[in-house]
Amino acid sequence: MKTHTAGFLGVCIMSYTYIDLYNMGRKKLKFIGDDSAFDARELLLFAADIPLNKYIALAGQEAPYSVCEKYKELIKKRSERVPLQQLMGRCDFFGYEFKINEDVLIPRIDTETVIETCLDAAEKSGKNHLKILDLCTGSGCIGITLFLELKKMGIEPDLTLSDISEKALIVAKENASHLGVDAKIEKSDLFCSLNGSYDMIVSNPPYIKSDEIEGLMPEVFRHEPHLALDGGADGLLFYRKIFKDIGSYLVHGGVFITEIGYDEGESLIKLYKNNGFSDVKIIKDLSGNDRVAFGKADR
Ligand code: GLN
Repeated sequence: MKTHTAGFLGVCIMSYTYIDLYNMGRKKLKFIGDDSAFDARELLLFAADIPLNKYIALAGQEAPYSVCEKYKELIKKRSERVPLQQLMGRCDFFGYEFKINEDVLIPRIDTETVIETCLDAAEKSGKNHLKILDLCTGSGCIGITLFLELKKMGIEPDLTLSDISEKALIVAKENASHLGVDAKIEKSDLFCSLNGSYDMIVSNPPYIKSDEIEGLMPEVFRHEPHLALDGGADGLLFYRKIFKDIGSYLVHGGVFITEIGYDEGESLIKLYKNNGFSDVKIIKDLSGNDRVAFGKADR
């Protein structure tokens, strides 16, 4: 650092090396928690538009003014708890890169368990063609990932992505086209505008109890869409609505696989069984929490 007349977030009239920037970013973000060093580094690579190996080579060199300015702005926003993935406009999920913004939930690692459950069910179905509906698709990460993974397994997917949010569907559409996935995009309040029957319906509906939303991390509470989180008073509102109609949209032997809250397993088992589903089971995520519910339509 050459001259230093104002704080890092003040006017940038001095020059900084990349390593200076990283260290300052890290310090500014320290209060947000354990990931501050990771976030500071990711944002610097993003601001400079360079990969890690280039950063290592450049670390001691002076960073261009534009990078310094952009980085300061990103660190400021991150310190205001804007999620890292929203600042970068992208998120990795199951090895694929998804575009995201404030109109969709950021794909969670927990949701990878939904994908694994679906792939397992697809394999066990013995079918080489599957009609799939991703209900409440958001960024499209579940349906799009399934499409790509099923293709690798030699299964031909016929995919529909639906959501009540038009803004979310813009993101889903962009992700599908960017990842080369051919999907029908439907704006629908759950099943209201949908037709046909599916071999597999998969969903990550809103399932947080309304009065627990406020207690979520500031990143989630302040910056992610509540429409995609709020599952009503007991968190189960959307499951109840889905089960009311799902019978008409699943083929005989079709499966419904859904993400659930860690404490919703028992309620989901009841909902599946009371609605005539068999083979009902709850699958845990990598942290050992109940996270996915599975059942087969017998009718
Ligand atoms: N798993 C998300 C969270 O904890 C919630 C997802 C949802 O409501 N579908 O923020």
